[in-house]
Amino acid sequence: MKTIVNTLVAAMLTLTLFTAHGQTLTLKEKIKRFAPAKITGDASKLSAGDRKALAKLVAACAYMDSIYLRQVWSGNIATLTRLRGAKTEAEKDQLRYFLINMSPWSNLDDDEAFIEGVPATRPAGANYYPEDSPKEAIEQWINTLQETQKSEATGYFWTIRTNEDGRFLIRPYNEEYAEFLTPAAKLLKEAAGLTTNASLKNFLNKRADAFSSNDYYDSDVAWMDLDSPIEPTIGPYEVYMDRHFNYKAAFEAFITLRNEAESKKLSKYSSYLQEIENNLPIDAGYRNPKLGAASPIRVVDEVATGGESRPAVQTAAFNLPNDERVVSAKGSKRVMLKNVQEAKFKNVLKPIASVAVEKTQISMIDFEMFFTHILCHELMHGLGPQVIRVNGQETTVRKQMKELGSALEEAKADISGLFALQYLIGKGALPKTAEAKVYITYLASVFRSVRFGLNEAHGKGIALQFNYLSDEGAFPFDPATATFSVDLVKIKPAVEKLTREIMTIQAEGSYEKAKALLDKYCTIRPNMKTVLDKLGKIPVDILPQFSKAGK
Ligand code: ZN
Repeated sequence: MKTIVNTLVAAMLTLTLFTAHGQTLTLKEKIKRFAPAKITGDASKLSAGDRKALAKLVAACAYMDSIYLRQVWSGNIATLTRLRGAKTEAEKDQLRYFLINMSPWSNLDDDEAFIEGVPATRPAGANYYPEDSPKEAIEQWINTLQETQKSEATGYFWTIRTNEDGRFLIRPYNEEYAEFLTPAAKLLKEAAGLTTNASLKNFLNKRADAFSSNDYYDSDVAWMDLDSPIEPTIGPYEVYMDRHFNYKAAFEAFITLRNEAESKKLSKYSSYLQEIENNLPIDAGYRNPKLGAASPIRVVDEVATGGESRPAVQTAAFNLPNDERVVSAKGSKRVMLKNVQEAKFKNVLKPIASVAVEKTQISMIDFEMFFTHILCHELMHGLGPQVIRVNGQETTVRKQMKELGSALEEAKADISGLFALQYLIGKGALPKTAEAKVYITYLASVFRSVRFGLNEAHGKGIALQFNYLSDEGAFPFDPATATFSVDLVKIKPAVEKLTREIMTIQAEGSYEKAKALLDKYCTIRPNMKTVLDKLGKIPVDILPQFSKAGK
């Protein structure tokens, strides 16, 4: 009974969104939203040992795919196996689109199913929790647990299953995914034996050990200490897919090569972090008077990905680890995927700007500022409230905000990223001429992000920002040309106001206020829809075509 009701509600919701977006795309058109783009790195300067190690790491990505596919949904592998037998052109398109999404649900269409015989939308708890157990039942059970068990049940690296009696039990990832983690660990150990870089050797050995012990702390610390021409990120990381609670981590991999010159140039921004924290537009008591160790920045070129890094919209930059214990001890590291960003800028952002932005402002669209705002977005994840006190108890923003956490945190990083850029311009670290470029490029990038759909944390976060800033008069709409522009005077106080509002909600740990804010602003309003409808033929994102460097 419950299943039928849920399916109906999901089907109705999908229908509403379908009509609302006016989308009647064929599967071929859906696939065409991803522009094939060559993604490559220069492996020619690596030592012979490192080149062999690189090949092992690329091979390990396949195991991350295997685990991730299973984490998405219990029926995912059977569905893929069925599609692999594709004979007709229509069936082959289904397989192609499945491989883009790594699931039978279309990420760009609010996760509606694009093939028959699967649930109408993806399960909210993914395959981390028993799929037939309601969220409330899991939550009630978690509340009955003792300290240690509770920290596992709400932790990153444990699934929740049921035993024969239907009782909940906790299973660590090293047992749940042993079939794939064991061979992946073997490849990491082999790569560790081949590399000539001591810090890479250390990370790979420790990460391989973590795959069998389920204790990721030491390897996360070793990842923070990496100082190597090969910069691999591999393991369980992001919690976006756990829409019940944002507790459980999905497996992924980014195998990358460090871009030495850019890394040096950008590390200069790190020296401003404490200063920016001290000047955040929030009550002084919410600021962190002493940030952790200096946060390293890496600018890299991607050569292979695995698991959650692969489906749909490609990651342009990330900030890891997420584990607050490591973040308090070591800070976090920002990795910027420069070749991915360049491909997005060229294939998506520039074409969007030419349609969405008022004519006189189009010339201000600028790759360097696009790149620098993403950098600031990543930097700002490490600033602002993290570990907080609610009713005298120490807790974290992530735990308090539960399933709303990701959308709010992404909005925080974006909007306070603009605040940080303005601060850097004020200090002369960036030229005054950068100002107009920053905000106008940001406006164009709003349209790029909102097209990802509001089902996803980044899309929700961006809708919140756009509508909030619009209400402050920062983005005037011209109905005659159906374009937006930036009011370069009004945007500055509006950015500060929203930064203050979001960070204060996080500092208070107020789930209710977060919900009210997101409910009010996470919508597509008519003017935005008018512009979105004009973007129809422009690709939404890229489909990476990895070259030999990654093979
Ligand atoms: Zn982010």
